[in-house]
Order: sequence, then structure tokens, then C-alpha cells
Amino acid sequence: MRAIRGAFFDFVDDPFLRPEMECLRYIADGLLVIDDGLIESFGEYREVRANYPAVEVTHYPGKLITPGLIDLHIHLPQTEMIAAYGEQLMEWLEKYTFPTERKFANPDYARRIAAFFLDELLRNGTTTALVLTTIFAESVEVLFQEAQKRQMRIIGGQVLMSRNAPDYLLKDPATAYAEVKQQIQQWHGIGRSRYAITPRFAITSTPEELELAGQLKAEFPDVYVHTHLSENRKEIEFTAELFPECDDYLHVYEKFGLVGDRSIFAHCIHLEEGAFQRLAEAGSTITHCPTSNFFLGSGLFPLHKSHGAKIGLGTDVGAGTSFSQFATMAAAYQTAQLQGQSLSAFKAFYLATLGGAQALSLASLLGNFAPGKEADFVVLDWQATPLMQLRNPELPVETLEQLESGLFGLMILGDDRAVAQTYIAGRPALQRNEAM
Ligand SMILES: [Zn+2]
Repeated sequence: MRAIRGAFFDFVDDPFLRPEMECLRYIADGLLVIDDGLIESFGEYREVRANYPAVEVTHYPGKLITPGLIDLHIHLPQTEMIAAYGEQLMEWLEKYTFPTERKFANPDYARRIAAFFLDELLRNGTTTALVLTTIFAESVEVLFQEAQKRQMRIIGGQVLMSRNAPDYLLKDPATAYAEVKQQIQQWHGIGRSRYAITPRFAITSTPEELELAGQLKAEFPDVYVHTHLSENRKEIEFTAELFPECDDYLHVYEKFGLVGDRSIFAHCIHLEEGAFQRLAEAGSTITHCPTSNFFLGSGLFPLHKSHGAKIGLGTDVGAGTSFSQFATMAAAYQTAQLQGQSLSAFKAFYLATLGGAQALSLASLLGNFAPGKEADFVVLDWQATPLMQLRNPELPVETLEQLESGLFGLMILGDDRAVAQTYIAGRPALQRNEAM
């Protein structure tokens, strides 16, 4: 058993549905007691301490402790090719992405990148991620093995591709079906790992393959479905040509039984009339990936029109330009501003914590400091750089106005330097100087 003392901030409800101030919780001097990787007790320091007088306490004065950040869409194999110049989606895939993904046929390379990738997530305070791999079974294996070494809650799966890509990234659907089935049995629900059936997008799967993906979902209903939807105009036009019998893009996935309450669709920028409502009715999740949408010139996700669908934030590395959820929140704010809207710091942090957990149907395990949940959290330094010190001079933060201002400064100016420590299942995951 161990305990963490400091200023804590989390959510107990959805600030998109109820007044923000009723949804958040800030404890300026709190204590979090952890037993065997789970939160045992949480509250005001002096109250909780009285019940655990002997527990060893690590104190983080002047820092802010939040639940671990959740990344709802990221590509493991694109780690190395982040920041690839000058193209929009379809050309970018051909020119940069597919050749890099090919390298994952080599298990040594795949393992080296998987280890780097997970460590980079941890350095950025991300404790849970929904991850795309490649068509190669090796890439799935190393992801889950390395995640289990770090005890991280990672959701991922083999990418299904059977047409409209170079031959070296295509796999026969029947073979892919057999491999995915075996992987679900090997990894789904083992430790903290969860599996996602992952057709890349409608364009790169034959109808036969989508049929088999739907069959897998029917065989294993609590497995996730993870794919892309309505990101780029050319992609949408090509999808319409390939599936002329479907009314719109979302209908392709609906037709094959892939739209449900554990389905996560990245982007959804140019969705057709009524599609948001169909996603909401199905209980599906949209992942907002704003740094990627800026980078590839894909467009502006209309968060304010997406009411009802569950929403999470995704870095979408390597079209996304940062592993940091702060950069993602900042870009989500800018995306809203460009549409005459806004996004408060509270709502942005909700999306990256409890909202992300809700979107993954994992809110009973993750997302805030409720006792019984898994002790994944981050210690944030809102004075991590000279500029942030100048911007956030008032510590400790006492009022909610100060908190909101400080959080906004963090999401606009923060990066991995603002992550002082990341805890996974109650243990520090970063080799950094511990607090007093
Ligand atoms: Zn993506």
C-alpha cells in the first residue's frame, strides 16, 4: 500500500451534459491511497490520512495530479514517419505510410518501435491508448507483449487490408480472419489488454473481408471495432464508388455489423446528414484527431454538432503531429475557434480522461479517482518551462478560476516536459526525480 499527496483534479460527470462546476472535483490538498494497483481511498488529506496513519506518502507540492490521459486513436507503425511533408491523406498513405508499415514484417524492428512508442506515450502522460498496428501478426504480438511488460491498458488489433494498397500490405481475408480470431483468444481480456477488430478503412477492405470482420464481432461481442470514417473528401468519393449500394460512408460499416457501442470511428469530419444521430443511437464513439486534421488538411471536426455520440481525443500519430494530449487539446480548441465555437479547458480535460474512459466503455475501471478504479494517473508540472512559470505564477492553486486558467495554460503551452511523473497501476513509470 502507498499514498500520493498533492492537488488533485478529476471529473465525476459529463460537462457536455451538465454544468461544468457540478461535474468536476478539485482537492487542493488531497490524498490518494493505492493498494495493489487500485485506488483504495481518496479525499481531503487530513480526512483520509486519519484512516491510514501508517501508509508511506509521496508528496508532490506545487504540482497537479489528474487521471491518466487516454488516446483514442494512434498508429504504432507510424511512429518513425511522423512529420512527413506535403501531402493529403491518400497520397500521404502511398508515399510515406505504406512503405513504413511494411517494415513491421520484421519482428525485431517491430519490437524496437513498440517499446519506443509505449515509452513515448508514458512520457506524455498517456496511460491508455487505442492502437492500430499493421497487417503483420508480429506487430500485434509485440504491442501486447511490451504493453504487458509496462502493465499498460492498451487496446489494439491487427489491421485488415485486402485491396487498394501495395501488394506487400495486402492479406487474404480468410487468413486474416484466422489470425485475428487466434489473437482475440490470446490477448483479449488477458491482464489489461483488450482487442479491437481493425479494418483500416472501407477502401482497403473487400466486402468479403468486412463480412468476416462483422462475423468476428458477432462471435466476440465484447471486442472493440476500430476504424476510420469520413476523414478526407477523396476518400469519401472513392468509398462511394466502391460501395454504390450504400447510402453513405457510415452505412458501409452498418451493413457489415460493425457499428455498435464498442465501435470507435476516427475523424468523422464530413459526415452526411443524420450520421451523427445514427452513431449516437448505436452508442458509438467518434475520435476527434485535430492535429492530424490540420496536418493533412482534412478539415474541421464539428464537435458542437456531434451531440449524443461519445467523443474521445486522438493524437493520430503519425498524421498527428504530437504524442501529447496537451497538443491535441490545443488543436481541438483551435478547431472550435475556427468554427466560431470554443472549447473550455475543463471540457478538453474531460475528453482526455473520464470522457475517454466512457468512450471505451471502461469508466468502471478508469477515468477518475473513484475508489476501486485502477491507479493510472499523471503528476503535471504547470511551471515546467520558464514561459509556463511566467504564465502560471500562482501556486498552490486555490480557486476554480485559478484552476481553469492554469489548465488552459497547460493545454496550450504544455508538452512532455509538463509531465513530471506517470503512474501505471500505482507505480511510477518514468525514471525522473521523485518528489519530496
Ligand atoms: Zn488514423
